Formats: sequence, C-alpha cells, structure tokens
Amino acid sequence: MTDALLPVFQRAAMVFDHGEGAWLTTTEGERYLDFGAGIAVNALGYSHPHLVAALERQGRKLWHLSNVYRIPEGERLAERLAAVCFADLAFFANSGAEANECAIKIARRHHAAAGRPERWRVLTFAGAFHGRTLATMAAGGNPKYLAGFGPAVDGFDQCPLEDMAAVRAAIGPETAAIMIEPIQGEGGIRPVSHGFLRDLRALCDEQGLLLIFDEIQCGIGRTGQLFAHQAAAIAPDVMSLAKGLGGGFPIGACLSTRDAAHGMAPGAHGSTFGGNPLAVAVANAVLDVVCDRSFLADVRRKGDLARELIEDVAARHPHVVVQVRGCGLMLGIKTTCPSVVLVEALRREAKVLTIAAGDNVTRMLPPLVVSDAEIRLFAECLDRTLAAL
Ligand SMILES: *Cc1c(COP(=O)(O)O)cnc(C)c1O
Repeated sequence: MTDALLPVFQRAAMVFDHGEGAWLTTTEGERYLDFGAGIAVNALGYSHPHLVAALERQGRKLWHLSNVYRIPEGERLAERLAAVCFADLAFFANSGAEANECAIKIARRHHAAAGRPERWRVLTFAGAFHGRTLATMAAGGNPKYLAGFGPAVDGFDQCPLEDMAAVRAAIGPETAAIMIEPIQGEGGIRPVSHGFLRDLRALCDEQGLLLIFDEIQCGIGRTGQLFAHQAAAIAPDVMSLAKGLGGGFPIGACLSTRDAAHGMAPGAHGSTFGGNPLAVAVANAVLDVVCDRSFLADVRRKGDLARELIEDVAARHPHVVVQVRGCGLMLGIKTTCPSVVLVEALRREAKVLTIAAGDNVTRMLPPLVVSDAEIRLFAECLDRTLAAL
C-alpha cells in the first residue's frame, strides 16, 4: 500500500478489479458479496447495463460544460425530480456535503431576502451526519470529527431526537430552519418516528421555519419509497440528495420549493462541475429504474425478507446482537462488540462486505437489485460469523 495518500482512511487490503450486481471481484479473482454498496451509492449494483449504456453514450458526446450554458439532460433531471416529490427546483452539486451546503444557504437567504437577516441558525439533531465540509461538520456536531479544526462554524444548535420539548426550547428569534435525516445513517441506522417528523413539520409551519430533510443516504429508493419521508405523508421545504442518485457517478442535488428558495437569484450560488452532462445522464438512467412502482415495491418486499431473516439470525445470537433496526434495504445490527469487529469478521471469514456506523451498528445497505438468493446467502454468512465471534 502506498504512503502517498493522505492517511485519513483505514483501508482494507484487498484490491477490487470489477463487479457485477451485488458482487465485487478482486485482482486475485476472489468474489465478495457487497452489502455496503459503496455506502448506499451503488444503488443498482455494479455494471448495470442501463447505466453503462448511458455513461458510454454520453461519454462520446460531452463530459463537461460550464453551467453558463444550458444542459438539457440536467433540465430533464430537474423536471423529473420535481415531478416525483414536493420540490419545484433543483441545484446540482458533486457530493452530499455540497448539496447540504446549498440547503443551508437557501435557508439563510430565505429569511434574509424577506427582511429577517437575523434568522440564520439551523437546528440539527444528536447523532446526525451531514458531511465533512466545515459547515456540514458543525451541523452534524460530532465531536470526533470537529476536534482539532479550530472553532466549529457558528450557526448550528443541536437537540436530542424525538424530544419536541427540547426542540421548542432550542428555537429562538435567530432560528431559520430545522435539518434532519428521516433515517440517520452514519449515526447508526436510527429511523426517526413519523410522528416526530410530522410534529417538526407543524412546528416549522407555526414558526415560519424551513424544514430540511437530508435524504442523501435514505433517499432514491433505499427504504422502498423513492424518498424516505414519503412514508410519513409530509414534505420538507428543502431536501438534499446524493449517494444513490448517480448510482456510482458523483452527483448531489439540493431540491427546494420555489417559495423556500425565493432568495436565490443569479450569482447567489454556483458550482463548476455540478450537474455536468456525464453526471446528469447517469442520474437520469438511475431514475429510469428506481422511479418504477414495481421496482420500489420489490425493494420493500426484499427489505421485509432481509429483516425477517436477520431477526431470525439475531435471535440465535442474543449475547452479541442487541437490536436489528432500519427500513427497506437500509438495515442495521447493533452488537455488544464494536461494529468494526463484526464488519472485519464478515469480510475475512465470509467474504461479505458491510459498513460500520455509530452506536456499534453494522450497516447492511445492499444494492437495490440484490436477489432473494443473495439475501439468504447473506443471512447464512451472518449466522456463521456471529457464531464464531
Ligand atoms: C454521506 C452523507 C453525507 C455526505 O455526503 P458526501 O458525498 O460524503 O459529502 C451527508 N449526509 C448524509 C445523511 C450522508 O449519509
């Protein structure tokens, strides 16, 4: 392994060469079952023919165009996203953190442009993860990520989840918005109750605040709904997307109602690479697949199957497994051992990939195209690995 990379990641030693569906193959020809999917990014698995075709077709035409020119595929992507949720407008970025930066800027401008510049603070929640830029790190509030980088960016206040009294107490004359992941991912697959999301919506309406949903991990079909909040039958004013949106090609999006974004005039925000022709061509191809009702129904069915099998396995290992939680194909197992121990054991002993998260939770985020047989194989591997721990 080279020492020429900034050593901020602890990397596993094997080298993957290619992949197909839910499987990755190393340069040595060893196959791994991938229940991490690049942290919910490879929503359609590896080498999906429809995505490969879209990338190749666009690759022969144009890769990059400045946003000072029209990008018809991006216009189409914005219209399609607006048609399937609450939003009227889309801004395209290259990552989740950038999508959240745009959401935070929209919220601050919303109030400033309406003559309330004093309203600029955003309320977030314990256990949140919103990215690694200076502002999104402050929004997440995780002391582990903030340490040693100087004073955290100001403008964020934090509350415990599911505590409306604390939320009410934390809102002041400077509050602009409330920002929340409908299902916390990095924090340890913590679904937020629909009641709490609805109460936040009502409070935002009452107080004139914007409600921002970070669906970067839980969006794009992951839960069996196109967007996780749709199961709660309420909508935010602003929503950030990334991860699954490009199916492996980097793209983020900040979606907004026209009213929430009323302060965003030409020059208010921008990105050199955001929404380039390659990224939007692939994202449109992802939507071709995931917006289909029967595809989403199948994700829900497979999520139920995975949940049932994993609960069965968990019941056989009560000394290690504390809890199984999540929704659709966004599942977590909380263990008594550190999650990295289970993640490494699964990788070494069973050649199965999962992702560690906070709160001693091991994340299972298979590609949405995972088969029933692969889900059964995963459950068997998990059973064997837990038995050997
Ligand atoms: C991954 C993630 C982000 C950050 O996305 P990047 O592309 O790494 O910047 C933000 N919010 C949530 C909920 C995420 O899961």
